[in-house]
Amino acid sequence: MAKRDYYEILGVAKNATDDELKKAYRKLAMKYHPDRNPDSKEAEEKFKEVKEAYEMLSDEQKRGAYDRFGHAGVDPNAGMGGGAGGAGFADAFGDIFGEIFGGAGGGRRGGPQVYRGADLKYTLDISLEQAANGFDTEIRVPSWETCDTCHGSGAKPGTEPKTCHTCDGAGTVRMQQGFFSVQQTCPTCHGTGKEITDPCKSCDGVGRTRRNKTLQVKIPAGIDDGMRIRSSGNGEPGVNGGPAGDLYVEIHLKPHGIFQRDGEDLHCELTIPFTTAALGGELQVPTLTGKGEITIPEGTQTGKTFRLRGKGIRGLRASYPGDLYCHVVVETPVRLSDEQKKILREFESSLADGGEKHSPKSESWTDRVKNFFS
Ligand SMILES: [Zn+2]
Ligand SMILES: [Zn+2]
Repeated sequence: MAKRDYYEILGVAKNATDDELKKAYRKLAMKYHPDRNPDSKEAEEKFKEVKEAYEMLSDEQKRGAYDRFGHAGVDPNAGMGGGAGGAGFADAFGDIFGEIFGGAGGGRRGGPQVYRGADLKYTLDISLEQAANGFDTEIRVPSWETCDTCHGSGAKPGTEPKTCHTCDGAGTVRMQQGFFSVQQTCPTCHGTGKEITDPCKSCDGVGRTRRNKTLQVKIPAGIDDGMRIRSSGNGEPGVNGGPAGDLYVEIHLKPHGIFQRDGEDLHCELTIPFTTAALGGELQVPTLTGKGEITIPEGTQTGKTFRLRGKGIRGLRASYPGDLYCHVVVETPVRLSDEQKKILREFESSLADGGEKHSPKSESWTDRVKNFFS
């Protein structure tokens, strides 16, 4: 069966914001939620379709790939975590439904609760050049391995975990709150259904130990400060066989000595001698990829901006790079010799002969001051 367009599934425009996506997803997910449509195969299919579309479009990188290459650009199975078995819906409730239903998702199944592992965040500091060109890197992230001593049971070797006495192994308990009977995670076993009376010393009864592992990360060209790259399944492990969480690599852009970035545009200060400002001239300016030329016209003032088209950064989803804006700052000469001062005084008196025509700004400024005092 041909796959439908993700934007069409969610009923949003191609340029929909994250908020619009989230809103559309919530509305549709509520409508097709299996609790509201028991035994409806069609609603279940729709629910899955909506979930997949949101998973893809809410991920900056996947959305970019989808926009460029369509369904071929994204692997829908990559982000589905533990879609197999009973954990599928718990996964879906984990992110958005957790918010709507107050985190009670997954409770309707009998037996121990299955939980998705927590997401992890890793902050990666990168330079402006790395962000502009993209690069491959390796990061060290925490990972978990089954404990060698207890082989994952969490119980001291020679002992067995017992069935939890509070919940009788169900992992959940029912609590009366007013008119409602609410199912909650068992406070004793935290949903595992098992109680460890004699914990393993190597892992403190957790059943796994923490190690670090190296992960290859591809940073796409055009990425910007605050963007996140998701690495599916590299978060914390799930509970009771639940899917692992995801790892989010959050990009932090280091300040640059020359350029400030604003989306796809770059800005820099261009300091010029007052003689060049007055007489005009050709100036070489630095760009991220090398050098550019700017023609300074006669009588250029501080604050004048020159734009170099296409010398900015090509954003993740952009076809063309942004621009480089050079903001002129005219520099006043310092530490003048007596001779230089003499020349400047002569120059000053020659200006006085020409009157206000040499100082367009002072003229309007003087007028404004006069008005202010009158
Ligand atoms: Zn152990
Ligand atoms: Zn329990």
